Amino acid sequence: MPRCDICSARDAVVYQAHTGLRLCKACFFSNVIARVSREIFRYGMIKHSDRILIGVSGGKDSFVLLDILSQIHDPSRLGGATIIEGIDGYNRAEHIAEIKRMATERGVELHVVSIKELWGASVDEMVRMSIEKGQRISPCTYCGIHRRKSLNLIARELGYSKVATAHNLDDEIQTIVINILRGDIARLYMNHPLRPKGSGLFIDKIKPLRKIYEWETAKYAYLASYKPQEVECPYLELFPSLRARVRDMIYRIEASKPGSMLRLLEWFDNTFNPSKQNNRETPKLGLCSICGEPTSPNRSICKSCELQIKSLGEVKIARNVFENTTVGMRYSRTS
Ligand code: SF4
Ligand code: ZN
Ligand code: ZN
Repeated sequence: MPRCDICSARDAVVYQAHTGLRLCKACFFSNVIARVSREIFRYGMIKHSDRILIGVSGGKDSFVLLDILSQIHDPSRLGGATIIEGIDGYNRAEHIAEIKRMATERGVELHVVSIKELWGASVDEMVRMSIEKGQRISPCTYCGIHRRKSLNLIARELGYSKVATAHNLDDEIQTIVINILRGDIARLYMNHPLRPKGSGLFIDKIKPLRKIYEWETAKYAYLASYKPQEVECPYLELFPSLRARVRDMIYRIEASKPGSMLRLLEWFDNTFNPSKQNNRETPKLGLCSICGEPTSPNRSICKSCELQIKSLGEVKIARNVFENTTVGMRYSRTS
């Protein structure tokens, strides 16, 4: 076993192809934490006074995010939010105990909320009803939109100033390439850490792991003895997506030219920096006429309400799932 290229004191356990370094466990942890801290500093993602809500799915990436943020930010100013999608065979409920243990160990308060509790139907139910009505809408569309809306709502109602999600480098590159392939420049800009918010109702979203490879979060979780949920979402196989094909293509490029993904993200950050786009206007978002949340320009109802109407036939009233908060109070209209 070769020695670590940094400390020379311990055996290496990780080979980092993009740097050519062999690292021991301690130096690998330090390396990842230093890169995350650098990214946070570079884009001013976190202020000392911030209260940050972390999206904690229980997967390896969210474990790494929770672990690192609790080391570099006051844990009493952190919260975790676990959103249960309600997908049969992908029941994160059995994993909740592990997530709670991990959050408690790090002194972080955890909020566990299901999409059904908040929006009246689980992802499975929305998908089933949408199929019954002859709609061809991907389960990931239902899932992703309601998860994002839930996180924003929880953060806003509970007074958090930032929402941190555990997207890693692989996720970011896939999204950028998909947006390029679709020619969707507006969405492409939305991936930049300095993107404008568009509405005061949105809580600032940060992605501290955006320069960390997925294999690195997997290795970090393994070396830290964390056991992430290993069951894959059944919809992944049933509805193969463009994302899966893009992922395979990018992996082949990265394997032959290590560091390609990092270089692509650096190029994106420099080229699509909103502060360099002097004549680019920030789109002003309107408000959904049903739920009152922000909606894309030129839309009268938001995507989430549209999806609920398509599947459930109405927009369900979001329940007040937090004691002493006003979640759902504004959701008094059905359609
Ligand atoms: Fe949701 Fe499954 Fe799609 Fe992930 S793969 S967004 S969990 S439906
Ligand atoms: Zn070392
Ligand atoms: Zn709406």
